[in-house]
Amino acid sequence: MEKESSAGAVIFRNAQKSAIFGTNYVGNNKTQYLLLRYEAGHWDFSKGNIEKNEKEEDTIKREVKEETGLEDIKMINGFKEKINYFYKLNGRLISKEVVFYLAETKKAKIKLSFEHIGYKWLPFEEALEKLTFKNSKDILKKADNFLKKNLSLL
Ligand code: ATP
Repeated sequence: MEKESSAGAVIFRNAQKSAIFGTNYVGNNKTQYLLLRYEAGHWDFSKGNIEKNEKEEDTIKREVKEETGLEDIKMINGFKEKINYFYKLNGRLISKEVVFYLAETKKAKIKLSFEHIGYKWLPFEEALEKLTFKNSKDILKKADNFLKKNLSLL
């Protein structure tokens, strides 16, 4: 069976305490997560295929830049979660693995590529509702918990 590997990021902004701004950050204390609407109709995080010999973090920086225009994302140490699913492409069954990191941006402005048909910045509960697949919802829950538990590490 064909296999595919992608890497992506749960991107957030406006954390109570920011990895980018340190303790001086004065925000509205409302963390928001970035979701993209794929052409196929589903809502998910920014992600893309890992190219040969490419490091996961480099895939993520490349794909996030292509798909959202964001160039300032900062990876948060200690978060890495994988999901697996199968899908059919032209009658062929493909087994796919996606690894997700957690990343912060200070920018809100998104510039979509042709690959996506919409985006939303949403607080946790609304993002959870909007995400199409359960495995991605589980990733968001883990990411939100991670941020709550590890704010002191940021
Ligand atoms: P990538 O962003 O990695 O380049 P892509 O845009 O080519 O990916 P996917 O987002 O993986 O493609 O979508 C391919 C198919 O898999 C779609 O039919 C979609 O419905 C399905 N799919 C996408 N994400 C999931 C998921 N988390 N769980 C189950 N099925 C999914």
